[in-house]
Formats: sequence, structure tokens, C-alpha cells
Amino acid sequence: MRIDFHVHTSYSFDGRITPSLLASLSKKTGVITAITDHNNISSHSEFRKFKIPFIPGEEIETAQGDLIGLFMSEPVKKGVDFYEARDAIRSQGAIPYVPHMFDSLRPGVEKEEYGKAADIIEVFNARSLERFDKKAAEFAKREGKLMAAGSDSHYPYEFGTTYAEIDLTPDQLQPKPLLKALKNAKIVGKRTSLLKRKIAKYTGIYL
Ligand SMILES: [Zn+2]
Repeated sequence: MRIDFHVHTSYSFDGRITPSLLASLSKKTGVITAITDHNNISSHSEFRKFKIPFIPGEEIETAQGDLIGLFMSEPVKKGVDFYEARDAIRSQGAIPYVPHMFDSLRPGVEKEEYGKAADIIEVFNARSLERFDKKAAEFAKREGKLMAAGSDSHYPYEFGTTYAEIDLTPDQLQPKPLLKALKNAKIVGKRTSLLKRKIAKYTGIYL
């Protein structure tokens, strides 16, 4: 199974992929999506209507940087302390996942203690510079943390080429089996063009 662990829908202020479009992209590419909108989980109920497997998540803007929760059922508000968000994720049986760690150009957490407090480290983010991903991968390896990949898609063309490939069936898509399967994940990623994103942002034109 191929999973993209970091995807935004139009329920993110800067996201341009509607849940229905994301569902068709997921079907077309065979990549299962996590939905990680900024500070809300409002898209989950709409996405469930399409009856395809996905991971309902949230990307929370904590006071120290972004933190993703996977398998979220209750949203966590932005601006809270990192550890408060981490505990709120764990208390609902969800998984703390650190996106774009060390990315100083974006709100990635930079202190190692935050990575140590999570279960999964994103070692490939299609919007990050290679040097930040490298640092995250080295950290995850050293600390024995699980590794995954996310496209951080906000536009449709970004989805489908970045994922972690794991041995899991759709009916096993639950926190515990997922964590187990991630021990042998194969990371596949393609970096997306910053220029293309800037054009999309300022002209509204994108594929
Ligand atoms: Zn994101």
C-alpha cells in the first residue's frame, strides 16, 4: 500500500484540492491519502462519503512548530504548546507525526526533543529543501523513529508521486498495524517545483 501522509484539501485556507477531487486523485493514482488540513478536521466527514480508505489527520500549528496527528477524531486548536498538542493526539488514540522537521524556512520544529516526543518523522517532504529532509532522516535513524513521506500537496498536481510504501491492506489501516508496518517502509518522493507553486499562488493558475 502506498500512503501520502501529508495532504491538504480546500478546508485548509491555502488548499485548492476539494475532497471530491482528492478522492478521484487517490483512486486514479492508487496512493492512499492522509488528510492533514491546517488546524481543523472538517473535511473528514465529507471525504468519508466517497467510501475509500484514508487517514483522517490534522496539521496543528503549535507554539513551537507544526505537528500532525494521524487518526484524529477531535480537532486540536492552533497555538497550543507542542507537548499539549502531542498529549491531545495521544489521548484520542491518534499518532503524533512531525512534518518537515528542521525546516527553518517553514514552521518545522527544530529542537530534537520534539522529534523524540513523536512516533513518526517525515523524512521526505516534497516541498522542503533536500538538506532539511536529510537532517530529519539522519535524526530518525539515530533515534530509531519510524519514517514516512508526505507531498504536503495543496494543489492537485502535487499529489501522487510522494508516498511511503508499506505492507498493509486497506482493512488494516488502523494506528497499531500502521505503526508496525512502517518499520519496513520504502520512502518514495519527488520534489515539487517552488516556481510552479509561486505561479499558482500569485496567478491562481494551476493544473
Ligand atoms: Zn502541510
